[in-house]
Amino acid sequence: VVSKLPQTGTTIFTVMSALANEVGAINLSQGFPDYNCSPELIELVNKAMKDGHNQYAQMAGVMSLRERIAEKTEKLYGAVYNPDTEITITAGGTQAIFTVISAMIHPNDEVIIFEPAFDCYAPAIKLMGGVVKSLALEPPNYRIAWDMVKRLINHKTKMIILNSPHNPTATILHKEDIDELSALVKNQDILILSDEVYEHLIYDGETHHSIARYPELQQRSFIVASFGKPFHATGWKVGYCMAPANLMLEFRKIHQFLVFAVNTPIQYAIAEHLKNEETYLSLPAFFQEKRDYFRKGLEQTRFELLPCYGSYFQSVSYSNITDEKDADFALRLIREFGVASIPVSAFYSKGIDHHVLRFCFAKRQETLDNAVDRLLKV
Ligand code: GLN
Repeated sequence: VVSKLPQTGTTIFTVMSALANEVGAINLSQGFPDYNCSPELIELVNKAMKDGHNQYAQMAGVMSLRERIAEKTEKLYGAVYNPDTEITITAGGTQAIFTVISAMIHPNDEVIIFEPAFDCYAPAIKLMGGVVKSLALEPPNYRIAWDMVKRLINHKTKMIILNSPHNPTATILHKEDIDELSALVKNQDILILSDEVYEHLIYDGETHHSIARYPELQQRSFIVASFGKPFHATGWKVGYCMAPANLMLEFRKIHQFLVFAVNTPIQYAIAEHLKNEETYLSLPAFFQEKRDYFRKGLEQTRFELLPCYGSYFQSVSYSNITDEKDADFALRLIREFGVASIPVSAFYSKGIDHHVLRFCFAKRQETLDNAVDRLLKV
């Protein structure tokens, strides 16, 4: 077999979760909750099934769900998307991202990504014959130096991929970043793919600077979001993509042959659930409590906390514990101490290792307590 992705192995999420399960470690690696989603939401799925919503949905998604998404987006970010032509329901954020990249990237097009980067961006770009131009960001703040981005831009630059709140670093884009970005792409033919799957997981009263808030950026952007994170149901694999009609038209040409349509009853259920805005407006407080609880526990350990402004990930530096490589240390943490994490070097194409591990805190208090007890022994 001549591999199309010779450099690509199995995603770190699968590797770490499998190992955690094998040795019975507390799994703070792959990002998902260890508690159930709301019983009302489950009831709504049941109801949708009983009501007979068990056949193919419309290719672009159940209309009532697209309408609720349009309302939410207008209310939160002031942007008007036409549910008929500008919103598509996808099988999670990852499918949306793959679909955007495959619809837009031609051979030799360059795509700028910021590393550490979620691991599905680069393989999709390469598969389309595109060229990944990555800019490595540094702990503890992982700020984007926009003058460096400017240096990467040339006539081949087709797209910039953004992710805020950011996985794995838990940083967020600030208004100054948006201003710099706007100045940079002005009068340029550059698209933006904005991965906003953690939009509702943002803390300390910070504002989520959705690209949807900025009309000049919004016109050239695909925005990807997810219901797995806000509704504690990552296994349902339902997300969505929003873009101006001319871009969405191209997106759907791929979407229709990749998945055709997404799970019908779950779309009906989420549409109903979204009518109550508390379902998502309550999330910052809900997760901030977990973040603070976990950070307080970790403060007693020898790990050093990095900032966490959003997402459900807390990164730590372990430089003062050992100089082992992060991948080696993560394996030892699982085997010897029974806690699974993600080594952040996995998100750098060149394997840059700052001795940082990522923990997911979307867990019950008891799980976080047990994890901290084990990490105290390190
Ligand atoms: N987004 C999740 C994480 O960062 C995992 C997604 C996946 O496993 N593909 O852990």
